[in-house]
Amino acid sequence: MTYTLIKEKLDKGKIIILDGAIGGELEKLGAPMDKDLWVGKCSIDSPDLVFKVHENYIKAGADVITTNTYALAPTSMKQYGYESYINDWNKKSVEIAKKAVKNSAKEVAVAGSVSTYGSWHTLGMEKLKIGFDEHLKILEDTGIDLIFLEAMTSETDTIENLLECSQKITLPIWLSISCALDPKSKKIMLGYQESINNTKVKIYDDFESAIKKFSSIHSGPILISHSDIKIINDALKVLKSNHTSFIGTYPNNGYFEKPHWKLTDDVTPESYLNDAKLWIKSGAQIIGGCCGVGPDLIKSISVLKNT
Ligand SMILES: [Zn+2]
Repeated sequence: MTYTLIKEKLDKGKIIILDGAIGGELEKLGAPMDKDLWVGKCSIDSPDLVFKVHENYIKAGADVITTNTYALAPTSMKQYGYESYINDWNKKSVEIAKKAVKNSAKEVAVAGSVSTYGSWHTLGMEKLKIGFDEHLKILEDTGIDLIFLEAMTSETDTIENLLECSQKITLPIWLSISCALDPKSKKIMLGYQESINNTKVKIYDDFESAIKKFSSIHSGPILISHSDIKIINDALKVLKSNHTSFIGTYPNNGYFEKPHWKLTDDVTPESYLNDAKLWIKSGAQIIGGCCGVGPDLIKSISVLKNT
C-alpha cells in the first residue's frame, strides 16, 4: 500500500491495523535470539521465520507491517562489533518484509522501525544522533512507505533529538512513545513499566507536558506503545487533547520477567477487541500490538477497519 492510501483512510476517519510483536512470535516459531542484537539477527539467521511472522500478520489483517530493524540500531550494532553489517542487515530486514507483502498480493504498507534500542546513556546525545541519522537514511533508501520512531522506554530529550533527526528525511514519520502509571501519584507519566502490577516502573516526565513538547516539533501521528493495556485508554485521552494529528496505540499484553516475556491470561481476542473499541472512542485510528500481542489478537481487532 502506498502511504497515500493509508493517509486517505485516516482522513476519512477509518481505522488502520498494525501488526503485533515480532520477537515473541519468532521465539514461538523457534528462532534463536542473539544475546546482543536480540531479535535483530533473526533476519540473517532465520529469514524464513521472519517472513512467516510478517505473513501471519498480513493474513490476520494488518494494513501496516514493521520491518525487523528495531534491534538493528546502528549505535547498538557498532557497540557489539557488527559495524560492517549495519547496511546489509537492515536492508535484508526490509527485503523480507517487502517480500511478504508482495507474496500476499494485498495492499499492505511497510514501516521501517527506527528505535532507541540499546544501552546508550553513557554515549552522549551527539553519538546517538549520528546513529539515528544513519538508521533513518538507510531505511529511507530502501523505498519503504513510512518510518516508525519506536522511542518507547526513552526519555524526553532522546525523543526530541530523534524527532529532529527524522525531519531530515522525506518519509512520513510516526512516533511511538510509552507511558506508565506512577505508583505514588497514580498519574500517567512518560516512562515504562518494567514488571507486572507496577512494582517496578521507570518514570521520566509528566506525560502531558512531554506530549506537548513532541507535538510542537512533530506534526505526524503519535502512538502509545509498549505500555500496559490497562492505562491505554486514559493515556489516549491525554494524547488526543494535546496532539492535533492522528493518534493510535499498540500496547503490551503481559510483562517482562527475565529472560522472557510472560503473558497474562486475562487478555483474550474478545477482550482485546472490546478494549480497542474504547481506544477508538478516545480518538485512536491506528491500532496494533506490542510485546505479547500475536496474530490472534490482531485478527480480532482487524474487523474494526471495516467500520
Ligand atoms: Zn512492547
